[in-house]
Amino acid sequence: MRQKGISSNIRPLKPLDAASETHWNTPLRADAFDLSDDEKIEQIEKHVREIMLTLGLDLTDDSLNGTPKRVAKMYVKEVFSGLNPKNRPHARLFENKYNYDQMLVEKDITFYSHCEHHLVPIYGRAHVAYFSGGKVIGLSKINRIVQYYAKRPQVQERLTVQIGKELEAILETKDVGVVIDANHMCVAMRGVGDTNSKTGTAYFNGKFKDENVKREFLNFINS
Ligand SMILES: [Zn+2]
Repeated sequence: MRQKGISSNIRPLKPLDAASETHWNTPLRADAFDLSDDEKIEQIEKHVREIMLTLGLDLTDDSLNGTPKRVAKMYVKEVFSGLNPKNRPHARLFENKYNYDQMLVEKDITFYSHCEHHLVPIYGRAHVAYFSGGKVIGLSKINRIVQYYAKRPQVQERLTVQIGKELEAILETKDVGVVIDANHMCVAMRGVGDTNSKTGTAYFNGKFKDENVKREFLNFINS
């Protein structure tokens, strides 16, 4: 579902999720998008209501009354909106006219996601780097790509790889690196109750497999 009149430098990408079965895809049902957003909100609202009633909450209370609808809308329209390919960011690319041949680093991209095992927040920072293979991407687009994949039930490893693979597909280069450090609320507020631990993940491809390049990227992040 693409907007009409998009300019030619926004390339129609093949959807990573739907088209090809690969290990980094989010496991989706074949009928994942048969229902409209409004139909999904209606169904999820009913189920959240059931959960709350089962927990013993009195939904006639005016503070609780609107919660099922509110949660359903938040799931479909906000925090899990990245499941739907129609929300995938369009990649506006530019020619690398200035022949910039060094690493570009976009660091400290704040994101909020949800752990797919407990459906509680994961939040952290993504750091992305690439070498241009002839095209450059608008910096805000890198941020949007991170947010798109974060807005899914996730594991941090998959989120890291999905961002890396998406940038490779858009920029038509393998020279992409992604580092993520994040806090997992399921670790902080339940189970072991460790509020200080952070989880780090990385994706290094192409030139980023070289130790010197990797170090330069990590130095940027830590500076
Ligand atoms: Zn979890």
